[in-house]
Amino acid sequence: MKHCKYLIVGGGMTADSALRGIRKIDTGGTIAMISDERDPPYDRPPLSKSLWKDKGIESIWRSPNGLNFDLVLGRKAVTLDVTEKTVTDDAGNQYAFEKLLLATGGTARHLPDADESVIYFRTAADYRKLRALSERGSDFVVIGGGFIGSEVAAALAMNGKRVALLFPSGAIGSRVYPPALAAFLNSYYQEKGVALFVSETVRSVRKKGNKTIVTTGNGKEFTADGVVAGLGIEPNTALAEQAGLKVDDGIVVDELLRTSNPDIYAAGDVANFYSAALDKRMRVEHEDNANVMGEMAGRNMAGQSDIYSHQPYFYSDLFDLGYEAVGELDAGMDIVEDWQEPFRKGVVYYLRDGSVRGVLLWNTWGQVAAATRLLAEKTPQSRATLMGLISD
Ligand code: NAP
Repeated sequence: MKHCKYLIVGGGMTADSALRGIRKIDTGGTIAMISDERDPPYDRPPLSKSLWKDKGIESIWRSPNGLNFDLVLGRKAVTLDVTEKTVTDDAGNQYAFEKLLLATGGTARHLPDADESVIYFRTAADYRKLRALSERGSDFVVIGGGFIGSEVAAALAMNGKRVALLFPSGAIGSRVYPPALAAFLNSYYQEKGVALFVSETVRSVRKKGNKTIVTTGNGKEFTADGVVAGLGIEPNTALAEQAGLKVDDGIVVDELLRTSNPDIYAAGDVANFYSAALDKRMRVEHEDNANVMGEMAGRNMAGQSDIYSHQPYFYSDLFDLGYEAVGELDAGMDIVEDWQEPFRKGVVYYLRDGSVRGVLLWNTWGQVAAATRLLAEKTPQSRATLMGLISD
């Protein structure tokens, strides 16, 4: 059995940030990290953004220099014994810990009837696979109109590929963006050469020789060199559930990021935390949350008592459009749109009961702090008070 003061399960951005957090407080305590990926920790956002523009894969790796830890790659933690304070991996190796972090992230939802040719785009390995296919082939099907679908479709189209993008709703990002903006995105993607198939589900995906055949619910058939799907993720809570930790849409953590067992922490996509700004429990599946929450979990594991009061922001790139955003972006909320130039530059406010719950800064830069303050203020707002309030 391997003994370590700190054990981190997961090898993503949250895990890596936690490692750095621990080392800021405790320079000597032993640390082990178990990751089921073959790659050491890396930045995930470039996989669907900058690696398709001007950056090479060498730009994504997070430097392990000076962090002094044991990295166990290609192993999945399968059992957690909270009494013995041990974790066992899928090769039967046991790790004893004093403090444990569950940074287990999420698993991509799969299509019901599809073979292994579908790339559920999550990891550097998925990126390599798609990159290799894009070097030999020209036709791609992208399934899902959320973050992955919209970013990967844009990335492939920018690299000269023919892309068919299909999803069940009527417009790209229709759950997030106001209807007129989502409709604009549909035409914008079409202008950029992406073939859109809205209100489409997938019946089956089958490999046939070097090609893959996608058959839709409406009976259309596509022949592709590669198929990518982004259908959302499910938080990886199995280890926590098996250990009897409290789980409710993710692993429930307190303000210090401790689970229902005070020696076990959780952070990142998998953690269900209380947002003071929004006065609700939530999970956030974006980079900033992974980095900031991960680091704080690490610091707290090493003896600090910092309260997680950060309101994470997120961002996306869609061809040459881009944005930053904070809070809840739900197209079903009351929405105030303040465009300087329609759908090119502006700010969109998402309100519930007259309170701002989310802000979309569309090609509007350097205003995340102002938007975050607005959420935290909780003062009643209306179209009249919001128009012109934030701009760059
Ligand atoms: P997502 O943004 O939640 O989007 C899921 C999409 O899947 C929805 O648009 C939905 O389409 C579609 N969908 C659901 N079931 C489907 C089905 N059976 N067939 C076809 N489409 C279906 O999730 P994601 O794009 O997979 O992203 C995965 C995770 O990575 C998320 O946590 C996301 O936050 C994160 N991520 C973040 C960024 C960023 O911050 N920029 C970038 C990439 C990934 P309809 O809306 O049409 O129903």
